[in-house]
Amino acid sequence: MTSSARPADPAGTAARPPLNRRLAEFGTTIFAEMSALALRTGSINLGQGFPDTDGPEEIREAAVRALRDGRGNQYPPGPGVPELRAAVTAHQLRRYGLTFDPDTEVLVTAGATEAIAAALLGLLEPGDEVVALEPYYDSYAACVAMAGGRRVPVTLRPHEGRFRLDLDELRAAVTDRTRLLLINTPHNPTGTVLTRAELTAIAELAVERDLLVVTDEVYEHLVFDDAEHLPLATFPGMRDRTVTIGSAGKTFSFTGWKVGWITAPRELVSAVRSAKQYLTYVASGPFQYAVAEALRLPDSYFDEFRADMRAKRDLLAGGLERAGFKVFRPAGTYFITTDIRPLGESDGFAFCRSLPEHCGVVAIPNAVFYDHREQGAPFVRFAFCKRTGVLEEAARRLKTLGA
Ligand SMILES: *Cc1c(COP(=O)(O)O)cnc(C)c1O
Repeated sequence: MTSSARPADPAGTAARPPLNRRLAEFGTTIFAEMSALALRTGSINLGQGFPDTDGPEEIREAAVRALRDGRGNQYPPGPGVPELRAAVTAHQLRRYGLTFDPDTEVLVTAGATEAIAAALLGLLEPGDEVVALEPYYDSYAACVAMAGGRRVPVTLRPHEGRFRLDLDELRAAVTDRTRLLLINTPHNPTGTVLTRAELTAIAELAVERDLLVVTDEVYEHLVFDDAEHLPLATFPGMRDRTVTIGSAGKTFSFTGWKVGWITAPRELVSAVRSAKQYLTYVASGPFQYAVAEALRLPDSYFDEFRADMRAKRDLLAGGLERAGFKVFRPAGTYFITTDIRPLGESDGFAFCRSLPEHCGVVAIPNAVFYDHREQGAPFVRFAFCKRTGVLEEAARRLKTLGA
């Protein structure tokens, strides 16, 4: 009926929203809304996960030096500068005993974000299913959609103080259409570090069903207490089917530099590079040289970084506990997931929208990381990669919640 009442629209665009159907559900992010709210209310922003201090001075100076010496100011080589590719392979060998050829088995990307996008765009056919751990890092769902894939969530659920992977559910999620498993450990936002038993089961499943695995390990250096980061590529049968994603942003506190990388066997690197070359082609020239130096920092840097973040975790976790939250003390990452039900609340969205007014702190409702939003409803995430004084003030403010 409307067609006869309306003027002709040969392009068919008049009634059609500009955003395509693949991305329609990803129109806006909660981070923009919450950061605006933080500004408007003068709140402490523990929503977004970036450090409020820069990484090591010597690495910042290395970037300045590269820039001044004219290294990386023009397009760097497509796979990344040789110095960085060599440093990545040396790091994988030193930390994990994994051997990669720096010429064919490493690809430098514009942060882990581009690595995720290029891996999914390069490896998926439309209609392929991707099994991923829910709650997801927010770019996974959007990138699976851009690649025309179908995401199949396996939900991590709280069990004895940590979010746990149900191995039966994982098995049940794999079908004949499953192309790859998209894993993230240490896991954002839950802070879970997958255990040897969980990773063994993932590896066995991947081998049995002949699946590719893309594993996002950007928090590899942020594991606490007895937790140990075990790269999936080290498990039997995994090296040849795994794309491992790393990034300098989280490990060296330079999230703005956007230097990431993948390590994988030659054919997989080549597939990912086919997509990557048409996304950014190359990025972050001078920063690549600086990150090459960063990856060669002595163990003491990584140990001190971890100890510092653990102290921050304990500071914020203690504050949240005293404020009445149930705290899932993270074994890794720089996020704490909490349960707000002990505070008499159950809707994380409503809670996070009112928290800035109530006590001047911004957090993120974990529901945004779920397909089944109701599963994530009572969980709220706080970032602790902030200066000690900021975390102390946040803890003081949060304490007024229970009062
Ligand atoms: C921050 C983050 C990324 C993105 O890393 P960049 O290197 O900044 O692009 C990817 N995955 C997870 C789980 C993250 O938390």
